[in-house]
Amino acid sequence: MPYPFALPELPYPYDALEPHIDARTMEIHHTKHHKTYLDNLNAALEKHPELHGREAEDLLRNINAVPEDIRTTVRNHGGGYVNHSMFWRMMAPPGQADRPPRALESELERAFGSLDAFKDQFTKAGLGRFGSGWAWLVLAPGGALQVISTANQDSPLMDGLVPLLGVDVWEHAYYLKYQWRRADYLQAWWNVVNWEEVARRYEMARG
Ligand code: MN
Repeated sequence: MPYPFALPELPYPYDALEPHIDARTMEIHHTKHHKTYLDNLNAALEKHPELHGREAEDLLRNINAVPEDIRTTVRNHGGGYVNHSMFWRMMAPPGQADRPPRALESELERAFGSLDAFKDQFTKAGLGRFGSGWAWLVLAPGGALQVISTANQDSPLMDGLVPLLGVDVWEHAYYLKYQWRRADYLQAWWNVVNWEEVARRYEMARG
């Protein structure tokens, strides 16, 4: 949906990811952090009606064509808006499938050697991101699966990559429960990965 962008509902209650992600963190993350990115994105676009028909993802894919006076705001807050909108759907209540559907798992094995090797590389990308940012599984042009990390709210879409799975490693994503222990957060986070959604995104991206 184009401008004015709206805050998407979570596909589950705030406490649905307990005990791995606590309800208070989810509520603040959604109603304060995500909402702030949304409000700042809408405020920036208000003075550019020529962009009002565009999807937020499309603005990020063409970030260098966004007018210079709002480019940094769209990069930071549009990135934050889109990243979090995806992030909620990339997670699901624990107790569901703890591994990808077979077809996706085969592709992960082909790209990384094994599912565990992929998870290890992804976790290391999240741990190795100094400061705030994200770790991602992306589909690159040509069809290669890659693990990358981005700083701040930078979106893989800005680099022509399609995000399939992402984890928020800003402290606001884990500090209440895990404090400084990002490694513990990342380890627990695998329990709430929505593998069906990752597979769906992969199929869509491959066309
Ligand atoms: Mn966040």
